[in-house]
Amino acid sequence: MNKEFICILCPNGCDIRVELKEGLIGNLDGALCKLGQEYVRQELFSPQRNIATSVKVEGGTLPLVSVRLTEAIPKERIFDVMDEIKKVKVTAPVATGQIIIPNVLGLGRDVIATKKVDRILNSPQS
Ligand code: SF4
Repeated sequence: MNKEFICILCPNGCDIRVELKEGLIGNLDGALCKLGQEYVRQELFSPQRNIATSVKVEGGTLPLVSVRLTEAIPKERIFDVMDEIKKVKVTAPVATGQIIIPNVLGLGRDVIATKKVDRILNSPQS
């Protein structure tokens, strides 16, 4: 069986073709460097993904703050983590890099804010 991948690790976007023999990688070509080989190996045997989404903010100058994971997680856990993120609401102010959910679902990754959201100042004089 043959499979094709576009390596997303750098702007070259190498088109990598892989021949699978009994579940193992046979011929692999099209990768300009070894990172592409590792990328394909991971995609085949242990795909990982990051999440970029947003969380509700109370009392902020924006209603939402963008968040991401500190590192990618196994692809099959994406929906579980999204469910955890949906439950969360933070109170402004929020700092860039602030941990929103530590060690989400025990996966060893934190959900962190990727944007700063200031607190709304209620007083018209301030
Ligand atoms: S194989 Fe290497 S050169 Fe090609 S896209 Fe991946 S990282 Fe870039």
